[in-house]
Amino acid sequence: MKPRLLAILACLGMHHAYAQDSLQMRKISDEILMHGTCYENLKVLCKTVGHRISGSPEAAKAVTWGEKAMKEAGADKVWLQAADVPYWYRGKESLYLKMGKDYKKVRALSLGNSQGTGGKTLEAPIVMVHSFDEFNALPDSKVKGKIIFFDYRFRQDFVFTFQGYGDAVKYRWASPSIAAKRGAAGVIIRSMSTGKDDFPHTGGMHYNDSFAKIPEMALGNITADLLEQACDKGTASAKMTSECHMMPKPVRSYNVIGEIKGTETPEKIITVGGHLDSWDVGEGATDDGAGCVQSIEVIRAFKALGLKPKCTIRAVLFMNEENGDKGGEAYADSAKARHENHVLAIESDAGGFSPRGIGLEMPEAQKQNIQKYKSLFLDYGVYDFSREEGGTDISPLKKQLNVPLAGLLPDSQRYFDLHHTDNDVFEQVNHRELKLGAAVMAQLIYLVSEHGL
Ligand SMILES: [Zn+2]
Repeated sequence: MKPRLLAILACLGMHHAYAQDSLQMRKISDEILMHGTCYENLKVLCKTVGHRISGSPEAAKAVTWGEKAMKEAGADKVWLQAADVPYWYRGKESLYLKMGKDYKKVRALSLGNSQGTGGKTLEAPIVMVHSFDEFNALPDSKVKGKIIFFDYRFRQDFVFTFQGYGDAVKYRWASPSIAAKRGAAGVIIRSMSTGKDDFPHTGGMHYNDSFAKIPEMALGNITADLLEQACDKGTASAKMTSECHMMPKPVRSYNVIGEIKGTETPEKIITVGGHLDSWDVGEGATDDGAGCVQSIEVIRAFKALGLKPKCTIRAVLFMNEENGDKGGEAYADSAKARHENHVLAIESDAGGFSPRGIGLEMPEAQKQNIQKYKSLFLDYGVYDFSREEGGTDISPLKKQLNVPLAGLLPDSQRYFDLHHTDNDVFEQVNHRELKLGAAVMAQLIYLVSEHGL
């Protein structure tokens, strides 16, 4: 055959494959937008279980819910995978600030994993700094016995808000030990928040064991602004009372796994997941009930359409993403011990908003294999394949087995208004946006299962 004819035939073949893929992607999208059950599932999770921090009775209830939802979606096989998780308990807490004449109670949340005041009241003057550099420049007399207010603002100039979070989160994570090293008594931070409101945001923090474990509380942006003004004008002080602590022993918990067995290459596995645990405020709707119900939706849609994937598809509801990643580690440990062949893992843990892209954390050649489908995704509003983003729960798969990772990238503008707050509730999620995110993950999984990576 002449090379020219060969090229034409190859081109026709490619067009045929593209047309076929485009048609299947449309079928998947139609099925989920018209008959998807992820929104109803999210309502049940949020309203009957509610928030569900690792190790809590609510988290145990969420596991039972997940197992049932996975079976209802039609998975061939559903099982629980054990993971021993830390259990951080909040208890009662209050914060009073004196920003003028009298003390006034304000909204505040202790940060996750932190050690409270043991129920006693810690009263001390507040010293404000805007950065670690400013803190390091303080004389010892301004630090010893004081409550340090780390007033670092979430940068609003980043369009992709996860960049702003990445920039600011060190103040939540590390401030207490940095302050305790020089004798501070407690820490207050401005929340990692894009919101023009007063919701405090909780989230994980970490102690350096060499220093005293001092309490840490977060303020919403409005109260943080008031405290900033008061500190600028003169003196301010705080009365901090909290009972929070880490329970002495880990608690046995579980990942929930549902599977569709592959028809041609069942030994090749594609994992799709979100995390089942949440912080102990709000309903964990956006973070990450959305990712859980979307992953279950992938299973349901394949079954409803009678699609028989070549590879095995596994939906995983991971436990303990927020403060330990023990579920993600247990999944990767098991995959390694069983010599499993994981082709791709994709996670949805950035909210149930309109999908805009798919993050790719994998070698360049594999990235290009996914990027070549870009034009097929444009109809669904998905255009950004440039970011190196996977997901926390699936990251041990990469570390241990070098599995290529992908992360669903929804529009990020509202995520950090809601993240880890009392306002992260079911009502904040839009049913079409949520379903579209599930459809895009199912479409990618279909393409990789059909054509490999
Ligand atoms: Zn999350």
